[in-house]
Amino acid sequence: MTYIIAEPCIGVKDRACVDVCPVECIYDGEDQLYIKPEECIDCAACEPECPVTAIFEESAVPEQWKAFIPKNYDYFVQHPDAPVAQRKNA
Ligand code: SF4
Repeated sequence: MTYIIAEPCIGVKDRACVDVCPVECIYDGEDQLYIKPEECIDCAACEPECPVTAIFEESAVPEQWKAFIPKNYDYFVQHPDAPVAQRKNA
């Protein structure tokens, strides 16, 4: 299981989530941030930090954003060199 970042992140990429992730598994994508499924430890720290409510536990992703589950997984297949997102407040 992993946490998934959905549509509200597109064009926002606030990165408050990056500040609280203990394992640095949130990556900077072209359009949004992505959580690497194999690295996420399901701690849930990121979820309440997102100002646009874009982050959901995989099984709790709202129906209209279910496509973001495969989109998140596929991103790392297509972009194995995606950079780790920089902290908002370094
Ligand atoms: Fe990082 Fe925890 Fe969020 Fe997974 S659930 S992305 S480990 S903060």
